[in-house]
Amino acid sequence: MTAKIIKGKPVADRMQAGITEATAQIEAKYGFRPGLATVLVGDNPASHQYVRMKRNRCKEVGIESFGHELPADATQEAVEGLVRKLGADPEVNGILVQLPLPGHLDEEAVLSAIPLHKDVDGFHPVNIGRLAMKGRKPLFVPCTPAGAILLLEEAGATFEGAEAVVLGRSNIVGLPAALLLIHRNATVTVCHSRTKNLPEVCRKADILIAAVGRAEMVKADWVKPGAYVIDVGSNQVEDPGSAKGYKWVGDVAFDEVKEVAGAITPSPGGVGPMTIAGLLQNTLRAAEIAIERGEIPA
Ligand code: NDP
Repeated sequence: MTAKIIKGKPVADRMQAGITEATAQIEAKYGFRPGLATVLVGDNPASHQYVRMKRNRCKEVGIESFGHELPADATQEAVEGLVRKLGADPEVNGILVQLPLPGHLDEEAVLSAIPLHKDVDGFHPVNIGRLAMKGRKPLFVPCTPAGAILLLEEAGATFEGAEAVVLGRSNIVGLPAALLLIHRNATVTVCHSRTKNLPEVCRKADILIAAVGRAEMVKADWVKPGAYVIDVGSNQVEDPGSAKGYKWVGDVAFDEVKEVAGAITPSPGGVGPMTIAGLLQNTLRAAEIAIERGEIPA
């Protein structure tokens, strides 16, 4: 059996088309475009690349983006001060602090300085707390795990009563992915670096989400026949045969697992495109919240 391949780009493109239409409607009706402020501290090349991509995609859908860069040795006060200033700026609907921050900064304090209604990454402790609690609803859900769930929905996965295994427990992917699955009434096992018998645990899964950052770790014999496999991982590995000398692979050994799984995302090309689409969607939602609050820029 060869698995159904769940591609992210067509879904992300569809989301983007809807967002473009909605931002045009907001501009026509209220005279402003939704605005996203990005905060980048330091000179990590990958972070610069991610922020550039996010700002380019904003432009494509009619969202204004305001880029703010601080040096690697910026003080806690300076970063929090900037975030607070953006929090009070009516032209800014969403604030994105690119992670990771340099080690001397208190990430939780910086994220907590973002007003809840501008927390488009969904990493504010209160938004994550609400996601973790029964009967509570966060204003925003973190974009990568939300994208993973959306792709499962697109592929027709059944969540109710399903055995789901999440590989990884990070604040930005594994943990929120597990919480989103619990909300959908799956029975969830969260694995991490101390989990014993990983292949055996994974083999139980009707839904398997891999977010560990270990190139092609999940092999065919870890996967239950017919399972839905979502590969969040994105790992650079040597590829001497290519011009660049490297290539990107996921956490799942795609070629062998696709022969066992019922449906599988490629990496690259699966969850990746969903992350920025989710950020744009959340920024649009933040602009709608601002309108509901009567905070329309002059
Ligand atoms: P982290 O490094 O923050 O977390 C990795 C998690 O995997 C940890 O919980 C860790 O366990 C667990 N882990 C590491 N090694 C093993 C192992 N050998 N066996 C079992 N568990 C293990 O990574 P992120 O969550 O930030 O990212 C995960 C992957 O997703 C990366 O490849 C990243 O590039 C990718 N990613 C992709 C995105 C996208 O597509 N847009 C966005 C964000 C991430 P422990 O907690 O015990 O240390």
